Amino acid sequence: MCGIVGFTGHRQAAPVLLDGLSKLEYRGYDSAGLAVQQEDGTAMIVKAKGRLKVLADKTEQGATMPGTCGVGHTRWATHGEPSELNAHPHESDDGLVVGVHNGIIENYQELKQKLLRKGYTFYSGTDTEVAIKLVDYYYKKYAHTPVDAINHAMVRMRGSYALALMFKDYPEEIYAARKDSPMVIGIADGESYLASDVPAILKYTRNVYYIGNLELARLQKGKVTFFNLDGDEIQKDLVEIGWSADTCRTLQDMMANNVAKTYGQSQFGSLAVCAKSGTAEVGTGSPHAWFAGFLNDSEHPLAFVVLVENGGGGASTAGPIAAKVLQQAVENFD
Ligand code: GLU
Repeated sequence: MCGIVGFTGHRQAAPVLLDGLSKLEYRGYDSAGLAVQQEDGTAMIVKAKGRLKVLADKTEQGATMPGTCGVGHTRWATHGEPSELNAHPHESDDGLVVGVHNGIIENYQELKQKLLRKGYTFYSGTDTEVAIKLVDYYYKKYAHTPVDAINHAMVRMRGSYALALMFKDYPEEIYAARKDSPMVIGIADGESYLASDVPAILKYTRNVYYIGNLELARLQKGKVTFFNLDGDEIQKDLVEIGWSADTCRTLQDMMANNVAKTYGQSQFGSLAVCAKSGTAEVGTGSPHAWFAGFLNDSEHPLAFVVLVENGGGGASTAGPIAAKVLQQAVENFD
């Protein structure tokens, strides 16, 4: 698992992206990268292996990447070793499409073969480069319309993904799509944000939309439009986040520590505060086992998702871990 942050607005994007990614560090990562749109629509991309601080130093805290629209990523490698080359963002050869991805494209080999036959070249070992180039393929095939291109790619891709994409021909816009990977979209006056998790953007806005499974979003400055897989526009309710970033942070730290202490760091995949709710559910989602639990008291109506990487034992491991962690969380708030 990893982290995604996106921003389009009137201030400089790179510092916002770095700040947001720093709030997602708890999810674990091995490399990081940023793409910021330049005046001609092309993206300036800077990546670094290792800590986020390496990327921040390399870009002088974002100052060397001017621009008001961009996406950032912390990567937890699943396909291809941790390296600068494999770090996200990835882009099409002509730079028309650039993006970051969270999750796993299970059928990436099959899609890669198809794209190789169409003349595409691949430079990284990632499934992500395949996803980006698949979107690029459909973008060129379907009259340069991002929503159609992403929809066609989504129909072809199996697995899990949160994708944040920028198109050279659509400056200052970010396109987001997701399936079985978390992503939230925030909105403020003249600004739009996206992130894997609320704490990354809570400093900037408390007004968020939860993008559903197999849905797309177009982020413009201060405006978000949602689409279903048919490309039809859909309406969503704006949710106001009532809890504070400090509360989130405390809970995340507490739960992360407890999982690591009780079950060993190796079994701890990542942890996210994801939504407000009053119900609870347990389930599995390939390839990660996961558990969602909810605290339902009026002071702290928070939801949690505990994700356990492959090797963690699937739902049979994820369930007890999450139950214990949730119990601990409840006790700490009694
Ligand atoms: N599967 C992608 C990769 O290995 C994304 C991993 C992630 O979620 O960080 O690059």
